[in-house]
Amino acid sequence: QDTLLVVGAGHAGAELALAARQAGWAGPIRLLGDEAELPYHRPPLSKAYLHGEASRESLLLRAQAAYEAARVQFEPGARVQALDTARRCVTLADGRELAYAELALCTGGRPRRLVVPGLAADDAPPNLHHLRTLADADGMRAQLRAGVRLVIVGGGYVGLELAASASKLGAQVTVLEAMPHVLARVTSERVAHFYEAVHREAGVAVLTGFGVARVERAPDGGDVRTAAITAIVGADGRAVPADVVVVGIGMLPNVELAQAAGLAVDGGIVVDEAGRSSAPHVWAAGDCTAQHSALYGRTLRLESVPNALEQARTVAAALAGKPMPARAAPWFWSDQFDLKLQMVGLSQGHDACVIRGDLARRQFIAFYLRAGVLIAADAVNRPGDFVLAKRLVAQAARVDAAQLVDESVALKSLAL
Ligand code: FAD
Repeated sequence: QDTLLVVGAGHAGAELALAARQAGWAGPIRLLGDEAELPYHRPPLSKAYLHGEASRESLLLRAQAAYEAARVQFEPGARVQALDTARRCVTLADGRELAYAELALCTGGRPRRLVVPGLAADDAPPNLHHLRTLADADGMRAQLRAGVRLVIVGGGYVGLELAASASKLGAQVTVLEAMPHVLARVTSERVAHFYEAVHREAGVAVLTGFGVARVERAPDGGDVRTAAITAIVGADGRAVPADVVVVGIGMLPNVELAQAAGLAVDGGIVVDEAGRSSAPHVWAAGDCTAQHSALYGRTLRLESVPNALEQARTVAAALAGKPMPARAAPWFWSDQFDLKLQMVGLSQGHDACVIRGDLARRQFIAFYLRAGVLIAADAVNRPGDFVLAKRLVAQAARVDAAQLVDESVALKSLAL
């Protein structure tokens, strides 16, 4: 038995299957995904696909022919339900058992659900949406049109991107954020306030410090579990009326399969620098993993396409006994309105934040330092500077804050 079995056909799974073939895996490669489609780009679901600028076809990561050419057997609608690492096989929801020589878990994550009085975890109001899959985006899109009152619970990236896309469609958008400012988990107050101002200017109502206390529903005499949501009520009693509600409060990694099989899980499937899990012949890549970062000296579970692709390529190289590709510093992007935000590194714990450029002109880069070392940067409409910032962050460069903000000093001259 010389099959490489890849579970989960998202960014990590698709890349891992194709990269493994390219790196020289000679046996069969099977890519099992529980969604109906060929692997597709997830980021446009809250951006260009949602507001109609990207077609369904343009979402595909690769055409069907690419999998055929690489002899990767892709199976849609195939859900893996159990893993037996001793017998080296998995069981699918349809009862089939598949054996493997090596297994890669690329199971990603699912949206976290809002559970408050008036809304139970398994309730299904017809106007409540989450966003992770193409099917989710299609369901939401069908209800978004001019004049609709859309309430988004959660002011993270996905929530804000959705707000921008929906307001382009003419919806009346309100974003509810429990923290004192949006993007609280990922950026500084300064950059967050900039984004709040941009959204407000575009007509989006951004309510911060708004903890959801309960949800009002319209039972209409029918099943309460499927009754539509009519309003979201805050801790101070304020009710925000809604025609459509989207909950964007983060995701939960799909680790249950690994956990039930006895693999080490610590917020994600624990993997070493090559992507090996704690069980022999089982690897993992993408949003579902927790991996030690040499750069930050702690275990991280990253949620980004670049990380999913990098981890997938690393596993493919390790499977083929090839040298592992170099790791970049974690990076991410987000498109909202006319703003291209690119972020590198993790800014938590910074003791200084300096800005190069001009917030008012919507072109700047925020640098985060800790003890004189550059640990992260957020660039808005500054792609050239971002490339250099990536290099500086990966080098954990010791830089002078005054030079970073001085536009007459080329960033290039600061890189080692
Ligand atoms: P996923 O893409 O989630 O793929 C996992 C796949 O495995 C899914 O298809 C899942 O259904 C399947 N699966 C799970 N369990 C099983 C099972 N037991 N059997 C079979 N199949 C299974 N990242 C960025 O870098 N930039 C962005 O701008 C950005 N925007 C985003 C916008 C949205 C709306 C969302 C939802 C995410 C965004 N992300 C963005 C995050 C990015 O999409 C993820 O980091 C990336 O998809 C992770 O890839 P993955 O392969 O690890 O997981």
